[in-house]
Amino acid sequence: TPAIKKVMPIPKAHYGGRHTVTLLPGAGIGPELMGYVKEIFSYAGVPVDFEDIDIDPNADNNDDLEYAITSIRRNGVALKGNIETRSREVGVLSRNVALRNELDLYVNVLHCVSYPGVNSRQKNIDIVIVRQNTEGEYAMLEHESVSGVVESMKVITRSNSERLARYAFEYAKRNGRKKVTTVHKANIMKLSDGLFLETSQRVAKEYPEIVHDNMIIDNTCMQLVSNPHQFDVVLTTNLYGAIVSNVVCGLLGGAGLLSGKNFGDQYTVFEPGTRNTGAKIAGKNIANPIAMLNAAVDMLRHLGHKHHATIIQNAINKTINSGIHTADLGGNANSREVVDSIMKHIKIAVN
Ligand code: ATP
Repeated sequence: TPAIKKVMPIPKAHYGGRHTVTLLPGAGIGPELMGYVKEIFSYAGVPVDFEDIDIDPNADNNDDLEYAITSIRRNGVALKGNIETRSREVGVLSRNVALRNELDLYVNVLHCVSYPGVNSRQKNIDIVIVRQNTEGEYAMLEHESVSGVVESMKVITRSNSERLARYAFEYAKRNGRKKVTTVHKANIMKLSDGLFLETSQRVAKEYPEIVHDNMIIDNTCMQLVSNPHQFDVVLTTNLYGAIVSNVVCGLLGGAGLLSGKNFGDQYTVFEPGTRNTGAKIAGKNIANPIAMLNAAVDMLRHLGHKHHATIIQNAINKTINSGIHTADLGGNANSREVVDSIMKHIKIAVN
């Protein structure tokens, strides 16, 4: 068995301990949420500089995207909002997908933990979703073979399934998790999901201390809603991962809370867990800033800025658990009030 590659070497800090990271605000609520991140970082004296890159959704070329990718290659790390892909024309690829593919960000990790202060459908959830992030149903290989007949290709490879499974089991081992559940539809997609499942079963043999089981995607959705506490680490393909992530985020309090991490062997991109644009709520001071702030805290941990990560994380938790909530969580605070409360708690911690 090949040795597991180190997931991501922490980039060296340059210029007296400061890091430069790429900032992709994206569309919709992305720019305002990034504004809060910058404000809080500056307030807390975080030693991080941003290289801002806007991607014009109307551009008929990919120059902006290529520049963004070059910047991430240089900095190693990015914080990202959702990039808009307006065209539904065949051949126009989602820029979010293109970015993940170009940087080979083959794993998406979503650690879904309940906030005690949020009035959610289920309590005390602690599930880690490890999702394939570059192939599967997102291969974007579609064509109309004859008029009225469309074919869409789903690509599953042994090598990507294997490194993903290894990531999930290593994650479980290092973080004291007890069980990995492979989520699939191998009863119907016998070859593609069959390969994904089989590969995870083979990798599981190397981790006898971790229980491995598997579940069909449809049953998983039902089980997640009725009894989410049976799940520990969920290992799954790209589209099933997107669906399962949204189910769990919904159980926990919605799109505005959790952050997600995209890893490859060389680069890491942090973003809100459910990757929404939020076009309808943009510019109204109502978007929940927490998911993007959590992504920013994840980024600080990754860069080794533990002290600042902890101060900001505690301030976020205190704000949520004291009931200062935006409307998506059933509260009546606006985005600004949530950010102000977080800054108040940072001030108390620093003084
Ligand atoms: P898009 O194509 O725009 O990305 P989408 O289906 O991915 O669409 P959105 O419509 O952007 O997702 O978001 C889904 C739902 O989650 C919407 O009701 C949106 O208002 C809500 N939402 C997303 N992010 C937030 C947030 N930070 N705060 C509050 N609500 C949010």
